[in-house]
Amino acid sequence: MTTTMVEPELIAIINKYNDVTERLKHSHELLGREVTRLREELDEKNKELARRERLAGLGEMAAGVAHEIRNPLGGIGLYASLLERDLENMPDQLDITRRIGDGVRNLESIVGDILAFAGGAEPNRQPARLADLMDRALTQCARQVEAQNAEVDVDLRLTQIELSCDAGQIERALVNLISNALDAAGKGGRIWIRSGETGLNDNRAAIVIEDNGPGIEQDKLHRVFDPFFTTKDNGTGLGLAIVHRIAEAHGGLVAAGHRKGGGAAFVMFLPRA
Ligand code: ADP
Repeated sequence: MTTTMVEPELIAIINKYNDVTERLKHSHELLGREVTRLREELDEKNKELARRERLAGLGEMAAGVAHEIRNPLGGIGLYASLLERDLENMPDQLDITRRIGDGVRNLESIVGDILAFAGGAEPNRQPARLADLMDRALTQCARQVEAQNAEVDVDLRLTQIELSCDAGQIERALVNLISNALDAAGKGGRIWIRSGETGLNDNRAAIVIEDNGPGIEQDKLHRVFDPFFTTKDNGTGLGLAIVHRIAEAHGGLVAAGHRKGGGAAFVMFLPRA
């Protein structure tokens, strides 16, 4: 008789116990997942912080060297151009002097890139039509487009977008992205330029530049924005570091990924006017 009295109570207690255990297990799992997520977030933030510290140190050093190089380089360029005038009737010597001039211009452009990366000039923001910025950037890349016989697809929705930006800086960022896309696409290659909403309702515009080149290997995706990371024989690895810096200075961002159907895709978010 006692067993029949106790059994239902016992069963109820056991059921309750199982229920509570199940709920505890569930809460434990949820907490575990949350801890993992927070740990990953912290890892990401720490990596970003370490990257910033590394870049700040590197930038300072590079800017110091660039400043030291700039003045003597200007001198060499000036003397080479004076010599060029004196050597007008001596074609062989003139050729050598012109090569010195070419070398100097090349170095000046690298020094300019280093200063743009390290200089940290605050953007002087004005409203600017994205279509105009893109036009000017494409004009700067026209020689490369022609030399490679490349095809450039520009989405017309661009014309409606107005940005609040430093036009010179954004043009520079666009030129770097377009020129990289052309480098990757190669002869007869194709690039696509699109723009539109970010989809985040954040009053920013998204600009997407894609190409049908070989794309970027997964393990290199996070390294392409590092200064001096390059896979090109004549690259400086500063182009994307400058784009990253300019995007961030505008309160925007830039990211690299894969294009559907092959090739690389770069997306840049920038504030609208
Ligand atoms: P650089 O052009 O001097 O190499 P960047 O900083 O502009 O410097 O680019 C760094 C590297 O990122 C390139 O050397 C290349 O490996 C990779 N990269 C950039 N853009 C593309 C692209 N569109 N497709 C494939 N790889 C790219």
